[in-house]
Amino acid sequence: MIRINILGSAAGGGLPQWNCACVNCVAARAGKIEQTQSGIAISSDSDDFQNWWLINASPDLPRQIESTTRLQPRYNASRNTPIAGVLLTNSDIDHALGLLLLRQQEKPLVVYSTGETRAALAWLDHTLARFCGIEWRKISSDFQRLNGCIEFRAIDLPHSVAFQFLDEASGRLALVAPAVRKLTRELSEASANSDVILFDGTFWSEDELAAVRPGARSAREMHHLPIRGGSLDFLRLSPARRKIYTHINNTNPILMPGCSERAELEQAGIEIARDGLEIEL
Ligand SMILES: [Zn+2]
Ligand SMILES: [Zn+2]
Repeated sequence: MIRINILGSAAGGGLPQWNCACVNCVAARAGKIEQTQSGIAISSDSDDFQNWWLINASPDLPRQIESTTRLQPRYNASRNTPIAGVLLTNSDIDHALGLLLLRQQEKPLVVYSTGETRAALAWLDHTLARFCGIEWRKISSDFQRLNGCIEFRAIDLPHSVAFQFLDEASGRLALVAPAVRKLTRELSEASANSDVILFDGTFWSEDELAAVRPGARSAREMHHLPIRGGSLDFLRLSPARRKIYTHINNTNPILMPGCSERAELEQAGIEIARDGLEIEL
């Protein structure tokens, strides 16, 4: 069995974002809602959930580790970690900065990424070389073993990749796609055979950001397909058992409890991620 933990479910900047006074960030400062920047941890029962792989490492990672007992060091040695390594969907700051915060590790950090992501993170590679360093591993479009009974493959997207995870024991599949600019044929095929889908829920609408920051780029210009007029129908029609939006920007109306957009997603059979959500495959 594979277990997936949502460590953080907000897009870059988090909720609240330090320089934002949109209605959601104001509600977050009043303690009504809160979400840290997106990241996921995955593990399997084949090694008794002793090793965890992260999908993206956000700047909120140290906080997320402290609120997730399974990711904390065991008491049998003074320095240790159940975190086996990191898989990067792309080189965005909110997906990669957490790597720097793991620098106290003694052996090199294992990081899976595309060559393009590795090249874009040369600055981070260079900085970490003075500490633990990075052991880069290549990702492939064919399934390869991650550990235990988990296999994974990468699905190429514009400016990103999605990952599909396979539980060898049950044959079940999970699709993790937090940064989707375009619904490609390969992504559609992967979503059609996945039991669980975690999908890019960054923006509700194409011009959402311009409402709080005049002149801001549109959702697609920022490499994210919006929910309305973008991924909503795609996910509604997907046969997956669970469909969950994550990587939600602080301007997205779905963050506000009781709003009509949330009701619309509920009717479509789509969930909204929250920090700490645990999914079994
Ligand atoms: Zn991001
Ligand atoms: Zn905001």
